[in-house]
Amino acid sequence: MITIQHVSKYYDDHPALQDLSWHVKAGEWWGIIGPNGSGKSTLLQLLSGVEAPTSGRVELEGRNIRTFGRKELARKIAVLQQEGLPQTNFTVREVLEMGRYPFQNWRGREQRDPGPFLDSIMDKLELRELQHRPVDLLSGGQRQRAALGKVMAQEPSLLLLDEPTTYLDIRYQLQFMNMVASWRKETGITVISVLHDLNLASQFCDKLLLLHENQSAGEGSPAQMLTEENLRDIFRVDTSIVPHPCNGLPQVLLVRQ
Ligand code: ADP
Ligand code: MG
Repeated sequence: MITIQHVSKYYDDHPALQDLSWHVKAGEWWGIIGPNGSGKSTLLQLLSGVEAPTSGRVELEGRNIRTFGRKELARKIAVLQQEGLPQTNFTVREVLEMGRYPFQNWRGREQRDPGPFLDSIMDKLELRELQHRPVDLLSGGQRQRAALGKVMAQEPSLLLLDEPTTYLDIRYQLQFMNMVASWRKETGITVISVLHDLNLASQFCDKLLLLHENQSAGEGSPAQMLTEENLRDIFRVDTSIVPHPCNGLPQVLLVRQ
């Protein structure tokens, strides 16, 4: 689905990402983890085609991502950030309708009425009751669900998430991740997510890419990547890694000094 070959991105002389080669297969869920400033958001911007690499190549389905038109790319890739939606008094339903932009003609119309499809998304995301409420009046958790609804309406084959749960409490963090997981199960969508919460990353992602000092520090399963040694070297923290009692996946306990 995505192939990156020797990609570097510099801002003036400052490296944001250096010599990264990486392959993502269709249907995989990847987590990108690493300290602040290690290049995670830069990588997502290169993957979404928003930024061009200084050198190297980013390919989507075998084609240089820079050669895709804007609407064409929007039918393939959706991006959701920390604050998924800006301040706006558009309603939840109107925001979901905006997600249909790649399928609309120049008059903002679609061949088929997207109404029933949007209804089904709102049912899945527990948004139906809120559909006529302006986004400004929603709680953080509801708002991020509306943002997810917008990208689901877009029907992409690749979803890029940049710290989507940062401002949510634990209930809504888990709810958000579960909703992405069921969407993926239903549609086989590929997911690449930057996550700060290593324990959520471990439970939801098939594979992790570790970035350190703007370079790859390795990739592999959560069990391979979330080791006490890696976390000491890369995040400079002491941890104890224990298997989750419910599913055996590695969970990170922080050790105070
Ligand atoms: P992360 O998301 O892992 O915190 P970023 O990808 O945002 O890291 O940033 C990587 C490095 O590139 C940082 O040193 C950051 O200051 C720099 N950087 C990112 N975006 C820009 C930009 N638009 N202009 C200049 N420097 C940038
Ligand atoms: Mg970032």
